[in-house]
Amino acid sequence: MSMQKQFASKADVEDKKVSFDRLSDRAYAYTAEGDPNTGIVVGDNAVMVIDTQATPVMAQDVIRRIRDVTDKPIRYVLMSHYHAVRVLGASAYGADHIIASRDTYDLIVERGAQDMKSEIERFPRLFRAVESVPGLTWPNLVFVGEMTLWLGKLEVQILQLGRGHTKGDTVVWLPGEKVLFSGDLVEFEATPYAGDAYFEDWPATLDAIAALGPEKLVPGRGAALMTPRAVQAGLAGTRAFVTDLYAAVKAGVAAGKDLRTVYRETFDAMKPKYGQWVIFDHCMPFDVSRAFDLATKYPDPRIWTAERDQELWLALEGEPAPASLRGAE
Ligand SMILES: [Zn+2]
Repeated sequence: MSMQKQFASKADVEDKKVSFDRLSDRAYAYTAEGDPNTGIVVGDNAVMVIDTQATPVMAQDVIRRIRDVTDKPIRYVLMSHYHAVRVLGASAYGADHIIASRDTYDLIVERGAQDMKSEIERFPRLFRAVESVPGLTWPNLVFVGEMTLWLGKLEVQILQLGRGHTKGDTVVWLPGEKVLFSGDLVEFEATPYAGDAYFEDWPATLDAIAALGPEKLVPGRGAALMTPRAVQAGLAGTRAFVTDLYAAVKAGVAAGKDLRTVYRETFDAMKPKYGQWVIFDHCMPFDVSRAFDLATKYPDPRIWTAERDQELWLALEGEPAPASLRGAE
């Protein structure tokens, strides 16, 4: 019997090295070799944290690093989208305002609880001290489209530029610094997770990010992009992955192939170009499944549950069922 891949990222147990990079007087990035990033905006009178880490205990390390550069109060937490791994550490900051788009709020209502359970089981290492999570993170300041926050004289634009990684994706743009925090809309040398994605919208949303003219960018995963050229590389890499994957899946669907076949062919086609990016093996089953759904009969992502995760993994990465059990085809 061949060695089976362990479910999702259960076998990924080694801690990553954290970097805390200064992008400008006002902007910092907390990154960890491809683990989910946190962004920090330092205003005149308050600090904003963009994505929180997965648990309050993990968020304490972010707070410790913020305190190395400023003693201003952390008044704002912004959720770039609803995924548990980015938002369940929110309570640690004691912020007055937790900001999210209306679409993100709606997703938390609809599927936040299922997502929390699914994500914790997919990637246990990223939920260190998961017992410190008090429950779902609920925004208390919800906007539609865009809003501007003035942290003293610092203008902070909070923008929903289009769908991509999720339908609620929100970016933070500091026009005076030309710094952008993208959430998972942009990744760098890390595989885009697309299990809740809108593949057909994602490239136009990347165009909208590029049109702002960011000179530095904090991606959802991967190192902070510190030059216009690096920003360009991050945008181009994410666009290529999303476009290549969806094209491969659509071609398989058009040829009448089933999900398992489309998955194997897409995996083999993508592996040479993208296989070295972190969490490639983790993301591919969920990404291909969502692309297959979109190309067939599900315009909106179906809800992932811990049970559905396991079924999918077994269907795509498990041993093929013997012909005798497959029914009369
Ligand atoms: Zn995400």
